[in-house]
Amino acid sequence: MKAYISLGANIGDRFSQLEDAVHMLHRLEHIKVTNQSSYYETKPVGVTDQPDFLNAVVEIETDLAPLALLEKTQSIEQELGRVRKKKWGPRTIDLDILLYGDENIELESLIIPHPRMRERGFVMLPLAEIAPELQVADGETAAEAARAFTGDSGIVKAEKPR
Ligand code: ADP
Ligand code: MG
Repeated sequence: MKAYISLGANIGDRFSQLEDAVHMLHRLEHIKVTNQSSYYETKPVGVTDQPDFLNAVVEIETDLAPLALLEKTQSIEQELGRVRKKKWGPRTIDLDILLYGDENIELESLIIPHPRMRERGFVMLPLAEIAPELQVADGETAAEAARAFTGDSGIVKAEKPR
């Protein structure tokens, strides 16, 4: 089954955390990362005294059931969210399952399609980059949903600093 996962981080070494999360996904049995978007940085708008978010979306191929996949993404969040060095403080990472094939799931712990994804430019822009024709809602593709966020959305592609 093809599934899409969004990744986000705003504390610590955000590039490394996203990279680590993608590698951890790929190293798991039953999951292959088949495509990855660019990194997108969300510039703070309004409340500017909080760190920028760094986001990306990956496409995976998996034979795990949705809840088993959620367990894996949550264990990666836990692993990477652990405080490693006091000096650097906590490192956070968020992994959300956006889509799982064309399934609709409404469990207490798992809602797919992710209910807020179409309102989020930092999800739709990277998703549309790797899967423009993907259906994100009835009669709407990722590219169409992303159009709401082009222009002055404060979301820009970001390169890993060297
Ligand atoms: P958020 O991602 O909304 O900022 P969390 O990452 O803390 O917040 O997620 C809270 C809960 O959302 C998780 O415990 C998980 O069970 C639930 N959840 C529901 N649907 C999904 C989904 N599609 N992907 C990931 N988590 C989900
Ligand atoms: Mg989450």
